[in-house]
Amino acid sequence: QLIASQSIPTPTQPHVMKTPTLPDAKRKKILVTGGAGFVGSHLVDKLMQQGHEVIVMDNFFTGQRKNIDHWMHHPRFSLIVHDVTEPIMLEVDEIYHLACPASPPHYQYNPVKTIKTSTMGTINMLGLAKRVKAKILLTSTSEIYGDPQVHPQPESYWGNVNTIGPRACYDEGKRVAETMMYSYKNQNGVDVRVARIFNTFGPRMHPNDGRVVSNFIIQSLQDKPLTIYGEGQQTRSFQYVSDLVNGLNALMNGNYDMPVNLGNPDEYTVKNFAEHIKEMTGSKSEITFLKATKDDPTQRKPDISTAKRELDWEPVVQVKEGLQKTIAYFSRVLEESGEIIPT
Ligand code: NAD
Ligand code: UDP
Repeated sequence: QLIASQSIPTPTQPHVMKTPTLPDAKRKKILVTGGAGFVGSHLVDKLMQQGHEVIVMDNFFTGQRKNIDHWMHHPRFSLIVHDVTEPIMLEVDEIYHLACPASPPHYQYNPVKTIKTSTMGTINMLGLAKRVKAKILLTSTSEIYGDPQVHPQPESYWGNVNTIGPRACYDEGKRVAETMMYSYKNQNGVDVRVARIFNTFGPRMHPNDGRVVSNFIIQSLQDKPLTIYGEGQQTRSFQYVSDLVNGLNALMNGNYDMPVNLGNPDEYTVKNFAEHIKEMTGSKSEITFLKATKDDPTQRKPDISTAKRELDWEPVVQVKEGLQKTIAYFSRVLEESGEIIPT
């Protein structure tokens, strides 16, 4: 028996990321809903590196455990596996409320759940913010502008959304979430922040996310056809994730409490973007044109003058530099997992 117990290997000490902790007076307890997702996990990295206490709440619908694995044993980090549509009692100073699937295939997979996540989820987080007097930031979206008739889009534009189309569960969900934020602010004095995020890309995007950046990179790296939906004349403007995370943090920590666009105004047609990625990866892929998706916005580009004026923020990472990092990331993912057929 003694021999048997001696042969049991000693468990290895879990690896703990080392970051300086802020003194008590400056350290905040920060809840990040959706913190295991693409944007959320990068935000968590920043808040942990700043020395705060961070709680991630996620139901892992589109989030991945590996995005936050490196913090798992850190004394200032905790994970709560919880669905934001269910109420929860916590004591926190700030809430970054990101929980919501963001890519069209994911949010259209279960539209009713997407609506519940934006409505019931945001009500729950606002109720929590009200009870504990926490500041709360909602990650809204450029999708609230729908298929915009004003270009580029300033925050004063009210949008053009089809209320019953396939994108409505997401777009209208976020629109009503914004309405809730300002109702709680006006009626209950909740301190709110609203970021309207434009297309963002970078490492940790889900390989089967179905968004254009991950699809085109994964297709290019495997010399598979690049799938353009429609004729590719629709435009998007792409921001790298570190710029977004800095913008979210600046918004939370500043005094401006009206909606703010966060995006990079560098605008491409989807066709030009496909050619750009093909060239950057040295791919032999063909470019194919598939049926256009319903209600796909024809143009999108942020007017970021509010963010520049109120937050002293603007993107600093060029799209090309961000793409190089993202291509390197997906090359590693492909090496680890073999063939990937994007959604
Ligand atoms: P993502 O899908 O990678 O992350 C969303 C996270 O929320 C995932 O971890 C998921 O598991 C979690 N989640 C979803 N439903 C939940 C629920 N009911 N309860 C608890 N957790 C839940 O998406 P992302 O790109 O990181 O987007 C984060 C936020 O930013 C979203 O609110 C999205 O609407 C917003 N946004 C993102 C973009 C973009 O381009 N990435 C653009 C505009 C807005
Ligand atoms: N798109 C495409 N091929 C793809 C994925 C997306 O042509 O494989 C197009 C899509 O129709 C849209 C744009 O790229 O016009 C951006 O799509 P994405 O899903 O990334 O984000 P959206 O801005 O539509 O939410």
